[in-house]
Amino acid sequence: MAVQQVTQSLWSATTGFKTYPQLQGDIEVDVAIVGAGITGISTAYLLAREGKRVAVLESFQVGSGTTGSSTGNLYATIGEYLDTVESKHNEDTLRAVVTSRTAAVDWIERLVQQHGIACEFTRVPWYRFSEPGDDMAEQLRRETKAAAKAGLIVSDQAPANFPFQVEAITNVAGQAQYNPLKYVQGLAAAIDGNYCQVYEGTKVTIVEDGKPCIVHTERGTVTATHVVMATHSPKGVYAVHTTMEPCREFALAVRLKGALPAGGIYWHRQQAQHYSIRPYSNAQGNFLLVLGETYKVGQQEHNEQALGKLEQYAKERFDVDHVVYKWAAQNYRPADALPYIGTSPMQENTYIATGFAADGLTWGALAAMIISDALAGRKNPWAMFFDPRRFTPLASAPQFIKDNTDVAFQLAKDYLFYGQVEELQEIKPGDGKTLEIDKEKVAAYRDEAGKLHVVSSVCTHMGCIVHFNNAEKSWDCPCHGSRFSVEGEVLEGPAYSNLAKPGSLERVRKK
Ligand SMILES: Cc1cc2nc3c(=O)[nH]c(=O)nc-3n(C[C@H](O)[C@H](O)[C@H](O)COP(=O)(O)OP(=O)(O)OC[C@H]3O[C@@H](n4cnc5c(N)ncnc54)[C@H](O)[C@@H]3O)c2cc1C
Repeated sequence: MAVQQVTQSLWSATTGFKTYPQLQGDIEVDVAIVGAGITGISTAYLLAREGKRVAVLESFQVGSGTTGSSTGNLYATIGEYLDTVESKHNEDTLRAVVTSRTAAVDWIERLVQQHGIACEFTRVPWYRFSEPGDDMAEQLRRETKAAAKAGLIVSDQAPANFPFQVEAITNVAGQAQYNPLKYVQGLAAAIDGNYCQVYEGTKVTIVEDGKPCIVHTERGTVTATHVVMATHSPKGVYAVHTTMEPCREFALAVRLKGALPAGGIYWHRQQAQHYSIRPYSNAQGNFLLVLGETYKVGQQEHNEQALGKLEQYAKERFDVDHVVYKWAAQNYRPADALPYIGTSPMQENTYIATGFAADGLTWGALAAMIISDALAGRKNPWAMFFDPRRFTPLASAPQFIKDNTDVAFQLAKDYLFYGQVEELQEIKPGDGKTLEIDKEKVAAYRDEAGKLHVVSSVCTHMGCIVHFNNAEKSWDCPCHGSRFSVEGEVLEGPAYSNLAKPGSLERVRKK
């Protein structure tokens, strides 16, 4: 099979970026927000409205992280099943999840209307269904019951002209979709500039929590009373990293030969896989988005095969003319099915918002509501359910043990059985391998022109060994999901620092 390559997300390919300046020198604010995705921008919007002096510090561009690579679906349910929330926690938590997420989607809708954000926000139904043979009917029946108990308008019937065969379905009315990149850019433009500045191209290199907090960047320092880590997974070493599973999944935007299915959020649940499908139209035409083939970050080097499988999945169910965009993105699955939003357990003045799984466009907006209430000294009715300091041993245990056994296994395996190739010459153009040269652990990638790019293979977060990601040409860490370019630059995940240039580099170059 030819190596499949990712390109870029439909949203970033078809949405222009407004640019913001880089930080120049040292500044002082009330709140420094690290990261300008849905979480960072929504939090900045609320804090600035309350008269707090805010700086948003973004490594790349507003919305260019996971937010700009998501599907753009907004819903009150969650990927991990509402029924799981009730069984892992209780009925109050189930209701808190649904009412808080409903409030967050409603807030997004109000902001779209209030600021005239042209992001194609539309109310649509949300469906989670299985096909005959998937053997998911019992689970979906439980989900329909849990959704009804939580107060959602739900049915177990598929509408006419449903574009899939159905074994069972949970059909929830009144959910929503938008273009996530246009939304977050529109909201950034609506932030009160008297109180908040957004800085792009400004990578935070370390945060010192204290009174005050000092946020170091490559271009100056920001002194702040509080810091909000809106970086999807908090940067540095945090206890929550041990309770989250970093996963990646692929996405396609395809053109169909015929008409698109009716607007809606279509989630196809199989025993081992989950696919998310949504129709979308803009000035460039009609697209069907098809997402799935989730895998654990850094644990599937030949992930181009998964991309091929996703294409196959789409072609088996729709009359696909051609694939226009292919991309991949990451999420962090929490051990007890709930996100971590609030004061960091390890720092006094730093807030975190993470563990969103693939539901974070709504969790991110909710995080902004919870964190801005906390900073204003207001009681938030949902904050206690998502407090990062919660300890839920029973709810988290199976996933927690699985995640950390896996981290220990990856670490031991990679150190014990290190060295997949003997010689650099064995690395083919377009491929990457980890190997040991003069006792140094290196990650070597040979580009299509034959040039070698060599960096240390030891992840700068917690010392695990990175693995090659063939479809995206990156080095990905199997332990906590940090990702690096073939030149070693941090792309995403908890690591602050780039992969080191190995001391043996000169010797490597000569080989
Ligand atoms: C394939 C896929 C599809 C999804 N679809 C949906 C969906 O339909 N609906 C839904 O609700 N959720 C969805 N999600 C989940 C959702 O996209 C994320 O949970 C959400 O976008 C996270 O937003 P965020 O602002 O917390 O993080 P991000 O959008 O990732 O923003 C974090 C920002 O922090 C910046 N940053 C990181 N490190 C630094 C640093 N050192 N200095 C400065 N800046 C830094 C990054 O560059 C980035 O811009 C999906 C996820 C995936 C993987």
